Amino acid sequence: GATLGVMGGGQLGRMFVHAAQSLGYATAVLDADPASPAGLVAHRHVASAYLDEAGLAALAEASAAITTEFENVPAQALERLAARRPVAPAAAAVRVCQDRAAEKAHFRQAGVPCAPHALIASAEQLDAVPAGLLPGILKTAQLGYDGKGQVRVGDRAALAAAWDQLGRRPCVLEQRLALRAEISVVVARGADGAMVELPVQQNLHRDGILAVTQVPPPDVAPALQAEAVRSARALAGSLGYVGVLCVEFFVVDDGSADGALVANEMAPRPHNSGHHSLDACDVSQFELQVRTLAGLPLAAPRLHSPAVMLNLLGDLWFRGGDDAAVEPPWPAVLALPGVHLHLYGKAEARPGRKMGHLTVTAADAGTACAVAREAAARLGLPPF
Ligand code: ATP
Ligand code: MG
Ligand code: MG
Repeated sequence: GATLGVMGGGQLGRMFVHAAQSLGYATAVLDADPASPAGLVAHRHVASAYLDEAGLAALAEASAAITTEFENVPAQALERLAARRPVAPAAAAVRVCQDRAAEKAHFRQAGVPCAPHALIASAEQLDAVPAGLLPGILKTAQLGYDGKGQVRVGDRAALAAAWDQLGRRPCVLEQRLALRAEISVVVARGADGAMVELPVQQNLHRDGILAVTQVPPPDVAPALQAEAVRSARALAGSLGYVGVLCVEFFVVDDGSADGALVANEMAPRPHNSGHHSLDACDVSQFELQVRTLAGLPLAAPRLHSPAVMLNLLGDLWFRGGDDAAVEPPWPAVLALPGVHLHLYGKAEARPGRKMGHLTVTAADAGTACAVAREAAARLGLPPF
């Protein structure tokens, strides 16, 4: 069969490769690391930097169509690939998701509310920040992820210091909102404009990194969930997006019983919060990525089991307080019913590094939650 190519060799690329193989495709991965998680399981691995001409030529040569798995693959590399092969999502859409200023402009244009914010790219803009945005969070406009590249600031002095700390790069200052909950929507859009989405996910972050996802959301009204889906579809549609797009939302207090929805950011690829779909839905987000890339029909995913996903960060390997990494006690969690363990094949555990995840499925949400809490306790993860 044909070969599908992917820019980036991380865990998202690895799960894309698995889904592509299952549908009968060969796969090619471009990543500078010769032992990248996706490169290890792909048919073909191009060990190259993203902007290296020979690497891009080799990937294009090998692939019938190409996608991306890493948010920060230079949009320019996708443009160069697109001169030779179909690329989805397109560089222009990825570029919007890579820049918080462009992203917020897109939210506004699509009529989707986002946090009050100001752009800071100069000392004048720093001085002109309205007092109402403080306390706030200063975020670099580009290249941040997992809460990296952002600083919480309480007053103007802290803001100025934070901007220095971030190297005076272009930033967005957002008002710090009191969050009632966080949710996300993974939408897939085909080249013909057809759209389907995963069920809405509720997310708990620790230190800016996703820790727990629950589906269905335990704390968010159905009307708000429906609004999140409408907004995600509007954002994908107005970008002319082809591929899998994740939109993160906050639920904030506005005096109403349900609260109000505020868009946070978008990711131009499958998302950590959609990993439950591998085990809890009849179509996963990675299969949707393959289908959009290959021009296959999109079938609407159905959640067949309530699910709780726990992220497994490298910190878990160092719980003994020792300097050496120790494999967590997997048999203890695999003894529990409905536990699906996914490890990404990364050779070295490091604190904060995403090493794997586990999803608990059950016949009802209460059981999934209880088993996930027991799994967290057995691994020594903080309670949720
Ligand atoms: P990701 O890994 O999801 O791409 P990121 O580094 O791009 O993360 P954000 O999603 O912007 O970071 O923020 C990380 C987390 O910080 C959010 O999920 C939320 O918990 C918190 N946060 C971000 N912005 C705000 C805000 N304006 N008010 C309150 N909390 C916020
Ligand atoms: Mg982000
Ligand atoms: Mg985020």
